[in-house]
Amino acid sequence: MMPFNRRDFLSTAATIGAASTFGVHTSLAAESKSTVNFALVGLGSLSTNQLAPALQKTKHAKLVGIVTGTPKKEKTWADKYGIQKQNIYNYETYDKIRDNEDIDVVYIVLPNGMHAEYTVRAAEAGKHVLCEKPMANSSEECRQMIAACDQNNRKLAIGYRCQFEPHHQQCIELARSEKFGSLKAVEAGFGFTIGDPNQWRLDAKLAGGGALMDVGVYALQACRYLTGEEPQSITAQETKTDPKKFAEVDETITWTMKMPSGVNCFCATSYAFRGVNRYHAYADKGWFGLDPAFSYGGLRGQTSEGAIEAPEVDQFAAEIDAFAKCILEDRESSVAGEEGLRDLLAVEAIYESIQSGRRVDL
Ligand code: NAD
Repeated sequence: MMPFNRRDFLSTAATIGAASTFGVHTSLAAESKSTVNFALVGLGSLSTNQLAPALQKTKHAKLVGIVTGTPKKEKTWADKYGIQKQNIYNYETYDKIRDNEDIDVVYIVLPNGMHAEYTVRAAEAGKHVLCEKPMANSSEECRQMIAACDQNNRKLAIGYRCQFEPHHQQCIELARSEKFGSLKAVEAGFGFTIGDPNQWRLDAKLAGGGALMDVGVYALQACRYLTGEEPQSITAQETKTDPKKFAEVDETITWTMKMPSGVNCFCATSYAFRGVNRYHAYADKGWFGLDPAFSYGGLRGQTSEGAIEAPEVDQFAAEIDAFAKCILEDRESSVAGEEGLRDLLAVEAIYESIQSGRRVDL
């Protein structure tokens, strides 16, 4: 497994760029505006219950468009959110979004296996892209997405909501400031019992993997943002108690990661048990952590000296506003495509370790 290397993806960018027929987009619809206009692609659970409501609270972003394959939803959404007819697309008309000056950002909320294709097509249509986690099914797809956005001069960010949440931000600050001394270990886990056996999350092509891809990435991310380091070596193992239901994807994975400074991370993710939704960071003079850590609200934090007090925010509104500001101020996102790529490189090392039964050095 090669470490993430900027030169690698720049060279991929150059290859894809040479083949691009769409040229470089330099004019921003948002340039002269104070608000950035978003279109949601895929009106499933997250778009319906979290993202559209969040987009009613954002200061710098507005929901103006939708892309849906379900005609019935066109009217429901138009009525509920005042979406104009000319800003409603389906999967056949998706590329026509390039002619729509009213839409600045396309927010990809499709099954994981569709993220790469729809991100590349959005970038080629001249739109900035916010893409849900996990970024894609593979690091190769992540590189293609980064290259397409670079080539078309569009910004790309991944929906890592926790990084915009005050409890998580306090924990990151506790780690960086070494308030409890030097970090020695991080324990992180996220899992739940998955229902319907016919859903796309259990289909390898659409999901890219199982619990690890869906919720394990939160634990992985936490280890990375608390330590500020990339894993040096990884060992992992998988358990399947229902081989029929989890024929194509992983059910439960535990893994360890050694960071270059020597911090040890021990992690778990599962589709077969509930209750694990936490991280704890252990330092030589104390500890801190969150439990629950990865829910949409109601997070609770503790340290060896008392509770972590932080305001409750809409994590999705915070994440969307942060990306909108990046576009308005022409800045890179702190959760740009490279951040998603780094997660996928670790995910691939976890799967490689399970396959080989050996430690994988990155
Ligand atoms: P969902 O199944 O509720 O919605 C998926 C949408 O994609 C549906 O509208 C569906 O019609 C559409 N779709 C288009 N083509 C499809 C196909 N071939 N197969 C299946 N669906 C198809 O899923 P969701 O929970 O909204 O998740 C969507 C994305 O958001 C995933 O990448 C997921 O990982 C991510 N997500 C992120 C969070 C978070 O907290 N950031 C939470 C939930 C989901």
